[in-house]
Amino acid sequence: MRPIQMVDLKRQYAGIKPAVDEAVARVMDTTAFINGQAVADFADQLAAYLNVKHVIPCANGTDALQIALMAAGLQPGDEIITPSFTYIATTEVIALLRLTPVFVEVDPDTFCIDPSSIKKAITPKTKAIVPVHLYGQSANMEEIEKIAKAHDLFVIEDNAQSIGAKYRYSDGTVKKTGTMGHIGCTSFFPSKNLGCFGDGGALCTDDDLLAEKMKMIANHGQSKRYYHDLVGCNSRLDAIQAAVLSIKLKQLDQYNAARFEAAAYYTNAFKDNPRIKTPFIAPHNKHVFHQYTIILEGVDRNRLVEQLASVQIPAMIYYPVPAHKQKMFSFLNLPQFDLPITDWLTERVVSLPMHTELDKEQLDYITDKVNYFTK
Ligand SMILES: *Cc1c(COP(=O)(O)O)cnc(C)c1O
Repeated sequence: MRPIQMVDLKRQYAGIKPAVDEAVARVMDTTAFINGQAVADFADQLAAYLNVKHVIPCANGTDALQIALMAAGLQPGDEIITPSFTYIATTEVIALLRLTPVFVEVDPDTFCIDPSSIKKAITPKTKAIVPVHLYGQSANMEEIEKIAKAHDLFVIEDNAQSIGAKYRYSDGTVKKTGTMGHIGCTSFFPSKNLGCFGDGGALCTDDDLLAEKMKMIANHGQSKRYYHDLVGCNSRLDAIQAAVLSIKLKQLDQYNAARFEAAAYYTNAFKDNPRIKTPFIAPHNKHVFHQYTIILEGVDRNRLVEQLASVQIPAMIYYPVPAHKQKMFSFLNLPQFDLPITDWLTERVVSLPMHTELDKEQLDYITDKVNYFTK
């Protein structure tokens, strides 16, 4: 059996090596390393894939979130509602911009922000909601959009983990995650569903003015060369990464299907195990399984992770400390947040190896061991 990894990038690369190597060599031949045709081409291809008007590439997913918040015209002290159960980047950029993060609960089934918890958190200072499509499936966007409309709130989707996932509205309309709010943000970190060979990220929007503003912000607030109208930052996707992404974008649906298949295999193997709650797929969602995350019931999680490691199976805790318990926010003097569902999940989730190259032999081995150790 091949060694098991959380993510197997080497084998994925092997499957597309000639095309990627050729695309990278082409960039090196042109020496157009910054911006240039490769970046413009990838932005167009991603816009077509997502069915969105504008894609603005940037340096990473964290920058994408920061640029989105900067473009939303917010003032220090404005309140931004966001889940506490997420990767730190989502919430960190809020504090970085001296905005006030208001942490709310997630739905214990989907792990995504709970609309009823959003409603309770709204105050006159609330200006935006940042839902996170966690682990590969969409938050309940229909409800979130209803709340946003009623209270005139800006919606920025953190789609770093769910590119290619879909959401179906009650009227039958289907949209891809990242294209439903005012702005969608994503990351091309190597282990993400669409990953490059370094850092990368992108913003998308259907709004022409927002697109223009975000382009400027990502480029030192520049309107034309050496004329700077806004305080911005320097956040670019480099051309070599764009070339890699153009190749990998063509494979994305296939990659996501491979993840889905592996997830279905896991779920079937755990179906009679009362100590494992397998991932719930909301009926309005097409899940792309960035992570395969189970909830343990009556199992010593640390011990299980150690036992799995002893038989060469990696397992990870995403995330051991929720945002509302992180020290980094102490300078904001936030009120105490009481988020029992988030705390409960934080203590019980564990993510198993999930990538595009898992084979049946590996899956059988992993599921046998997990079932054995949780008996
Ligand atoms: C990865 C990730 C980010 C940040 O992306 P980077 O490219 O690493 O900056 C933001 N939010 C979530 C939910 C992520 O998983």
